[in-house]
Amino acid sequence: MTVHFPFQNTYAALPANFFARVAPTPVASPRLIKLNRPLAIHLGLDPDLLDSPEGAEILAGKRVPDGADPIAMAYAGHQFGHFVPQLGDGRAILLGEVIDADGVRRDIQLKGSGPTPFSRRGDGRAALGPVLREYIVSEAMATLGIPTTRSLAAVTSGENVMRETPLPGAVLTRVAASHIRVGTFQYFAARSDTEGVRQLADHVIARHYPQAAGAERPYHALLEAVIARQAELVARWLLVGFIHGVMNTDNTSISGETIDYGPCAFMDHYDPAAVFSSIDEMGRYAYANQPRIAQWNLTRLAECLLPLLSDDRDKAIAEAQSAINGFVAVFGGAYQAGLRKKIGLFTARDGDEALVQDLLDAMARNQADFTLTFRRLSDAALDPDGESEVRQLFADPAAYDEWAARWRQRTSEEPQAPAERQAAMRAVNPAFIPRNHRVEAVIEAAVNRDDFAPFEELLTVLAKPYEDQPAFAGYAEPPEPHERVLQTFCGT
Ligand code: AMP
Ligand code: MG
Ligand code: MG
Repeated sequence: MTVHFPFQNTYAALPANFFARVAPTPVASPRLIKLNRPLAIHLGLDPDLLDSPEGAEILAGKRVPDGADPIAMAYAGHQFGHFVPQLGDGRAILLGEVIDADGVRRDIQLKGSGPTPFSRRGDGRAALGPVLREYIVSEAMATLGIPTTRSLAAVTSGENVMRETPLPGAVLTRVAASHIRVGTFQYFAARSDTEGVRQLADHVIARHYPQAAGAERPYHALLEAVIARQAELVARWLLVGFIHGVMNTDNTSISGETIDYGPCAFMDHYDPAAVFSSIDEMGRYAYANQPRIAQWNLTRLAECLLPLLSDDRDKAIAEAQSAINGFVAVFGGAYQAGLRKKIGLFTARDGDEALVQDLLDAMARNQADFTLTFRRLSDAALDPDGESEVRQLFADPAAYDEWAARWRQRTSEEPQAPAERQAAMRAVNPAFIPRNHRVEAVIEAAVNRDDFAPFEELLTVLAKPYEDQPAFAGYAEPPEPHERVLQTFCGT
């Protein structure tokens, strides 16, 4: 039986040097672990078909649906600051694009579906643990309201992948506004292929930034728009305590979505220097470095676009530089506005920045849990008795008391009723994030005991991050000292 998907393939219609045509490599015995039914429906795909044996074969890359034009995309990238002129999809294959219920074009990509011409020494495969981590964290980001790639499905392959030990293999179906990265532009720029850069830029404008097409200088407008989306994205990360872990230019999406959930983590206690990735020995991608790194990555994008900005190189550089400088204001505005909301301020006044920074400093000095501090503060806004719940998160609770007195004074100068403040704060301060120790426990149960019940339960809890869910209160708690996860592994 042939299965038809409503694919369009605009990327595959670009020049042949943009990608390699390659089909997924069939696997032994696909088994569907998880299908994201609401997302399938949103994408206009039939969830019952995907949930069938044929569906599992498609999602594992064993059967290519009619309408697909499978390709591996070419890209380059700076990895930890070092330029690699050719990376590309070494273990991912784009099946095609669909138009979702909102009219947005979405890539459907299999990750872990076998080798491609870009695999270098890799096997083109993915292990189950990292696939589950990506599924959990990307879907959690989506429910938190943060732009992100999505996870449509996870299947096990019935084959082992060789890592340090043999591990069960899996394939993730990733959905993205597109898989075009800063590194995609770098691929053409590194080859002095200005025509390639221009064709890519035109594709990106049509697809992600149509308003730039009508601007006086479309490529300049494109650069500014990408910078703004990345600045807002990284502000959103900081506001939920997210650490991406591998902010290489090939993992910086042009559409402004979070992409590539490798050694990512949410921090428990607030620590601006927090690093979890086992491969980030220098702390390049530490929590508080993320805005600076994003700006650095965008500077690499700006360099690629120079030939499109002006024939006069000095003028192009000046234009690019001013666009790059604009990052700071967009990031700062989004971050400070987000922080004000987190502490329940409805207006902006002089001194607010210092007020919220003093809270963060006290949290850092006192190892206060990032997520719980803001969540409990939300309830303390209604009922001052709730203050005892907040202060006990601080190693020295007096550090909180001193700050709270100033906070009470500041909020009392606004007309909003406490209940309104509490509701507004609860809507931006989640109770539930994918805490590392929970994610690790889910992976352990799945990989070692073929038990996916903890995975399902964690997904259920994370689907409603802003609701209290008393039945799952334990999921809101930080790890006990012995449960603490100190490192996440790149997980390939
Ligand atoms: P990442 O660190 O996940 O951003 O990946 C960097 C590069 O390594 C990309 O070109 C990936 O396609 C490639 N890669 C990662 N894992 C594998 C693998 N198991 N097989 C082939 N290529 C891989
Ligand atoms: Mg990557
Ligand atoms: Mg990766």
